[in-house]
Amino acid sequence: MRELIKKELPPSEKKKNIALIAHDNFKGALIDWCQRHKHILEQHFLVGTGTTARLISENTLLPVKAFKSGPLGGDQQIGARVVDGKVDMIIFFSDPLSAHPHDPDVKALLRIAQVYDIPIANNEATADFIITSPLMDEKIPRSALEFK
Ligand code: PGA
Repeated sequence: MRELIKKELPPSEKKKNIALIAHDNFKGALIDWCQRHKHILEQHFLVGTGTTARLISENTLLPVKAFKSGPLGGDQQIGARVVDGKVDMIIFFSDPLSAHPHDPDVKALLRIAQVYDIPIANNEATADFIITSPLMDEKIPRSALEFK
């Protein structure tokens, strides 16, 4: 059996890379959330899946770098950036009441966030806790699971 170890990685920068994703029924809620926390979000780098990124940029004027739309691989692009240490946290307002063609990608993103110990919020309450954490102003120690 392969033995798991925790490997220390270089800490995040203070200015963090935050990924923003929302399924269609929750895009309005994420835009409102971004507006509410704009004073914090504008101190960090923002990325997002295609439609989510565009709508947040248009409605809040926050700069959000857009990847592909979720169903076209945007969640996978964000997952790859987690692996590369280029995404420090994910705010993902997923829809618990609808099936999506890219449900496997969503599951993959949750899994890779676990492997790389990345904070990931699936609902507004968790997102509020993360974004108001004193750790937002600090370099966060990072680690990932690895096989010995
Ligand atoms: P979208 O993708 O921002 O392009 O709508 C989000 C998703 O459905 O994963």
